[in-house]
Amino acid sequence: MKKWNFGAGPSILPPEVMKATADACVDYNGLGLSLMEMSHRTKDFQAVMDEAQDLFKELLGIPEGYSVLFVGGGASLEFCMVPYNLLEKKAAYLNTGVWAKKALKEAKLFGEVVEVASSAADNFTYIPREYTVPADADYFHITTNNTIYGTELREDLDSPVPLVADMSSDIFSRPVDVSKYALIYGGAQKNLSMAGVTFVIVKDEILGKVSRPIPTMLDYRTHASKGSMFNTPPVIPIYCALQTLKWIKAQGGVKEMERRAIERAELLYAEIDRNKMFRGTACKDSRSLMNICFVMADEYKDLEKEFLAFAQEKGMVGIKGHRDVGGFRASCYNAMPLEGVKALVACMQEFEAQH
Ligand SMILES: *Cc1c(COP(=O)(O)O)cnc(C)c1O
Repeated sequence: MKKWNFGAGPSILPPEVMKATADACVDYNGLGLSLMEMSHRTKDFQAVMDEAQDLFKELLGIPEGYSVLFVGGGASLEFCMVPYNLLEKKAAYLNTGVWAKKALKEAKLFGEVVEVASSAADNFTYIPREYTVPADADYFHITTNNTIYGTELREDLDSPVPLVADMSSDIFSRPVDVSKYALIYGGAQKNLSMAGVTFVIVKDEILGKVSRPIPTMLDYRTHASKGSMFNTPPVIPIYCALQTLKWIKAQGGVKEMERRAIERAELLYAEIDRNKMFRGTACKDSRSLMNICFVMADEYKDLEKEFLAFAQEKGMVGIKGHRDVGGFRASCYNAMPLEGVKALVACMQEFEAQH
């Protein structure tokens, strides 16, 4: 039976991407060697790195003066690298969920942190819009897509101070005006690649301004000045990212990714709103196109396990909601075909008809 992978991460990738990566693991370009066993200093791997960085810049229209880095450690290491490199006295954070809170917690190790707004009291069902960012903050940190709660900020804010964004779970799902950001980072395993690589887009001129010494590996300048080759980079995840970038380009770029994301999300949210057995958890003005969270309506609460089993039987994978929200979460990343969402909608309708 066809399986539809709605997992939140690691998550669905285009079949072509997985096939090309698997092939490279066996015999890279007919060289008789796996990409796994080749030196990262060969011209063959250098070409992979160069093309991945170039395509990354091309697809997002990244202006001059920014570096694209591929490093290890996951988005979670960025939670401390950002303040290590940028926080001199004070930083501002928007608290929109578990990941935002984890980022904020790390920043406190380095200086004063102002939480400009939080939707914690409402279990992060919306993205706050009314707040003031202190003009003397070194930077303002946001999480554009809250993977766990299914909320998303789908606009590029005008910030009075350098803007830093965790875009782990919505990068390449829409055009982004990178010039409005000082730094954008994310783990690759949601919308770009397999786990193991972290991307960082950083405006070169914001680096080197803090007075503290920074350990070599945690200093963005180390990676920027060496083209992400200071030490051995995660070669296979970078190769896999390159395949995804090529796939995005071939499909029509981020504008097309956005069109598809809207199409998928409209279809699923329409069913959630129509079907009396379900209800969405995120406020409508904050609904994510990537992670679509819903629960059983109150009168059907006791059927939650039954629907989960029913959906799994029909080939839906990874739709159990995060424990903080409960219910269901259908992650609809770039590689999710519309057919997958149609299959889930059919499943919801069939379940409704049975009850
Ligand atoms: C998954 C996720 C993270 C954590 O990423 P790791 O690479 O596992 O550290 C951070 N932020 C957001 C928004 C995420 O979705």
